[in-house]
Amino acid sequence: MELIEQVRTVAEACGADFFGVADLTEVGDVILAQGGPSLAGYPRAVSLGIGLSDALVDHLSESRDRTRDALYRYHTHTVVNAILDQCALLAAGCLERAGYRALPVPASLRTDDAGIAGPVSHKLAAHLAGLGWIGRSCLLVTPGRGPRVRWITVLTDAPLAPTGGPSEPRCGECRACVDACPIGAFSGRPFAPDEPREVRFDAAACDRHYRALEEAGEPAACGICVAVCPWGRRGTGSRGSPSPRC
Ligand code: SF4
Ligand code: SF4
Repeated sequence: MELIEQVRTVAEACGADFFGVADLTEVGDVILAQGGPSLAGYPRAVSLGIGLSDALVDHLSESRDRTRDALYRYHTHTVVNAILDQCALLAAGCLERAGYRALPVPASLRTDDAGIAGPVSHKLAAHLAGLGWIGRSCLLVTPGRGPRVRWITVLTDAPLAPTGGPSEPRCGECRACVDACPIGAFSGRPFAPDEPREVRFDAAACDRHYRALEEAGEPAACGICVAVCPWGRRGTGSRGSPSPRC
């Protein structure tokens, strides 16, 4: 079995729903600027994703419910992130046993408080692997599950063939996430690779919203921008096919 299929098999057996390989050669400067020299110089990234529970996402845009929000928070940040970290560790082990360098980047680890960012953008890797596009929400939107996916990345020097390339945004005229965000964090500007995230998304405002919830003794959960996206919503025809609204 080819190495790429070995890695895919290991990741899927661990629970990954999405698998892709990204060519990082054009974004070396971005990786260096965000993650520093220890993460720079890897020419490929394996991108892995796990779909979220629809039952926990579907109602996030309705009035707040303490139990539902606590379950969503636990599901995404505790359960799914832990499985993603295991998938990445096993995928990296597979690559290392084949003689290559492989660095699993944690699913959720903030290393830049000022920029509200981790060491590597998992969404960038998934985007470059052809797994979806960057929506007005700045989330990675997949054709089948919309933004209802969490991601992780394994950096590697293994000569894996890329599985795709960046997709053009398919948001169309939709502005559901822009209109639904309770703190107006999105400008509504479509993704453009040469523009910084700040022109589309006020990540600090979203972060303050989460901290305000925590300080109020509420579950630190929102996810409205995930729930309202027509891509991936059940009953809209968008699960696995283009949404009629976009
Ligand atoms: S998680 Fe909530 S506050 Fe943050 S951007 Fe999405 S909708 Fe807005
Ligand atoms: S809600 Fe609409 S505008 Fe926002 S990411 Fe989804 S399709 Fe794009």
